[in-house]
Amino acid sequence: MADDRTEDLLADASARASRYLAGLATRPVFPDAGAIAGLEELGDGLPARGSNAADTLALLDRVGSPATVASAGGRYFGFVTGGALPATVAASYLARAWDQNTGMAVMSPAANHIDALALRWLVELFGLPESTGGAFVTGATMANASALLAARNHLLADAGWDVDAMGLFGAPEIRVLVGAEAHSSIFKALSIVGLGRARVELLAVDDQGAIDAATLPDLDQRPTLVCMQAGNVNTGAFDPAGAITGWATGANAWVHVDGAFGLWAEASARRRHLTEGLATADSWASDAHKWLNVPYDCGFVLVREPEHLAAAFTQAASYLPPAAGRDPLAFTPESSQRARGVEVWAALHHLGRAGLAELIDGCCDLAERAADGLSASGLRVLNDVVLNQVLFAAGDDEGTDRLLATVQAEGTAWMGPTRWHGRSAIRLSVSSWATTAEDIDATVAAVSRCLAEMG
Ligand SMILES: *Cc1c(COP(=O)(O)O)cnc(C)c1O
Repeated sequence: MADDRTEDLLADASARASRYLAGLATRPVFPDAGAIAGLEELGDGLPARGSNAADTLALLDRVGSPATVASAGGRYFGFVTGGALPATVAASYLARAWDQNTGMAVMSPAANHIDALALRWLVELFGLPESTGGAFVTGATMANASALLAARNHLLADAGWDVDAMGLFGAPEIRVLVGAEAHSSIFKALSIVGLGRARVELLAVDDQGAIDAATLPDLDQRPTLVCMQAGNVNTGAFDPAGAITGWATGANAWVHVDGAFGLWAEASARRRHLTEGLATADSWASDAHKWLNVPYDCGFVLVREPEHLAAAFTQAASYLPPAAGRDPLAFTPESSQRARGVEVWAALHHLGRAGLAELIDGCCDLAERAADGLSASGLRVLNDVVLNQVLFAAGDDEGTDRLLATVQAEGTAWMGPTRWHGRSAIRLSVSSWATTAEDIDATVAAVSRCLAEMG
């Protein structure tokens, strides 16, 4: 084992990764049953003896690579899934070799500096107040939970309750208002922070799933948490941020924004109108592994007054030195953590504002192209395509479900199911730098062929 040369091993890994990426264009997007069954070869019981590292890598590539989903390629439209920009994959290789623990400044000056710089660039990009600070976490789910924890603790502290010390038993109640079409992760986050999934008041939404500003209930001085979203996962619709933050002003309310992908509309001059008013919220959650196209996993939480985030995640131990600057572990649920800021920094440094605007607009334009093509093929597009999400259906629920199964099996592209207004629908989300107009045309042609075959 010791005779593997690190240099040869890493060169081999790089060559295999390049071959893998080059092969994505010509393979089915979802792996076939044979490739999935092949995963058995990776092992059964824990091996008693080791292998040399080159053989371990070769087996992983031979068996693992064919069973992956080609979401790094241009024709994966499931969920909201970015690819990884080559600049970020390369930066990630290097950062993996660094193997820095980013939890504390004292453990890695480089990772700590890059992490803070990347966060500062995000605050600037989204046009948020200068005071805003935050942290990188695993994804928007954890970012939502982190922001809601900061909100909960702050609202309760204001009400004279030290939840950090006393927990929630006997605490004053927090009124929780959530859009009726909020993402499922908001309910998970509410559960994690002890506010409950089911005791929320749902705010009425319009036909695109955006909160209807005309029907907002009265607010008062009770501790109140409002969760709004930028970018509905089905339609891409935005809750009216200006109206919501205006309505919450003067009440005892914290306004949180789930902008997992929608926040990125701010990068585009053509789509920025969608995010109007968002900067006046109290906290924001978003993902970098979706639309910024960095490798998994990477999300971030931003809070207008970051001391509320720090108050929620305070940690002390005899062997932990006093903070020498900003320690990420004081702002996140984790202690040890990888250097997530590295790939974010690399993406933003590589793209600049102009390149990022092109990436965001490019995806939105391709979503429109897909919607036009699907309509022309006789399918029903169900949403106003304002961003990168296209929702469509064929005839009745049975027809839609059958079409989706046929498309998924055909292999040109992959998209997923959803329910919209009580009916089956197909979601097509354009979130990858790698998607081209040719990918969209090939996808529309494939869907159209599948529709025709169904008769
Ligand atoms: C994807 C998504 C989330 C959850 O993000 P993860 O990165 O998967 O944790 C939350 N909200 C919205 C609107 C999303 O699209």
